[in-house]
Amino acid sequence: MREKVDVLIREALVVTMNPERRVLDRGYIAIRNGLIVDVGVGDGGDKYSAEESIIGKKSVVIPGLQCAHTHFYGLLLTGSPWFGKIEPPTDFQQNLQRIWWALDVLLGYDEAYASALMGSILFAHSGVTNFFDNISSPNAINGVLDYIEHAVNEVGIRGFISFEATQRRSIEEGFRGLAENERFIKKNNQDESKLVKGAIYLHASFTVKDELFIKAIELSYKYNALMAIHAEEGLVDVYHNIEHYGLRPVERMHKLGFLGPRTHLVHLVQATDDELELVKKTGSHVAHNPMSNMLNAVGVAKIPEMLKMGINVGLGNDGYIFDQFENMRAAYLLHKVWRRDPRVMTPLEVFEMSTLNVAKMFHQDRILGSIEPGKKADLVIIKPKTPNTPINPQSIYGHLVNTFSSKDVDTVIVDGKVILKEGRLITIDEEKAVDHVHRVVEKLWDKLLSKGAPQLDYIKQ
Ligand SMILES: [Zn+2]
Repeated sequence: MREKVDVLIREALVVTMNPERRVLDRGYIAIRNGLIVDVGVGDGGDKYSAEESIIGKKSVVIPGLQCAHTHFYGLLLTGSPWFGKIEPPTDFQQNLQRIWWALDVLLGYDEAYASALMGSILFAHSGVTNFFDNISSPNAINGVLDYIEHAVNEVGIRGFISFEATQRRSIEEGFRGLAENERFIKKNNQDESKLVKGAIYLHASFTVKDELFIKAIELSYKYNALMAIHAEEGLVDVYHNIEHYGLRPVERMHKLGFLGPRTHLVHLVQATDDELELVKKTGSHVAHNPMSNMLNAVGVAKIPEMLKMGINVGLGNDGYIFDQFENMRAAYLLHKVWRRDPRVMTPLEVFEMSTLNVAKMFHQDRILGSIEPGKKADLVIIKPKTPNTPINPQSIYGHLVNTFSSKDVDTVIVDGKVILKEGRLITIDEEKAVDHVHRVVEKLWDKLLSKGAPQLDYIKQ
């Protein structure tokens, strides 16, 4: 008598990412009630009868990919004619002033929803089933996370969403940002059925004074919530902190009690070896965004050194390129050319940064990040269109990092439910959704263009 399951994936190459990093050449995965109940060698059809049977011949099954850091609203500016109106920024701080801080004041609830919808669609196509987003929309704070949640739920992926609290303009606005995070955490984090959870986010230590840090830490402890911050992305962060506090950013955050296992630091491009020791000592995590770092020309983070030290590093896109395979490729290549050493960064290390390491960062490694019985069934089936060499347990990590792209993602399963099949989302009408997003973006671009060059009068002297 065969056991009944909901979904059975059969005869696929399975990249388990279990502690032995086992890869099954021809394996099966049985799913029931949203959980992986069995993983084994062979067809599986002799043991299980399934509501939905997926034949995985010539396919690769991987754990759902995870994005350690993103901003959905970053998608609103791709190719915008507005860039032609701006004096091109020559460094990171000008980039924030002339582009992002000029944009964020125009973001409303429609833009938050539309960008989250687009981002979730792109993530699903790219096999990303879990992420950490934060939004900066100072004129749409209260309730904005509900709009983002709604969009993510329509697509059907999992994630953390947060408001980027800052006191760039006022302390009151910073507290309102944190209050929005608290409201959302109270609403969602204790509810097992919710795929979207809340977290605490601060913009950066050069736009946040001690009192806002202290409030963030208090909330994180109160709700056992994740907290994160952009840290040492550009040199402005470092020198602002040295000038005002006599400490480098990581030293200051350590002194304030912000570092710890619940915390991840985004970027950490400028960190010294002493600061990395503090990150390691406190069990804090790092979100690495190589493509964004290249785009903003801020430098190269010491990722190979961090990995060697045992610091947990996850891979993010920082709201820039939503194809996770491209981000993996960038992480794989950047450190080689920077160090002039082709040995640094192996395909497996990069793939870990996109699966298990992010699960650890999000405190979800007991339920996500690998294909093992008892874990949530968040899975991606890749059907490579034109593999140039055979795909087998020896070659698979090389293919994942060098060959595959979002276009090869055939099926995506989240929490045991198929959300993308044969490369098409089945949870929403994709064309309708994309049309809606484009309408919202056109209106936003009109507003930006009519506003002209960004006004810089809000920059604090
Ligand atoms: Zn960011």
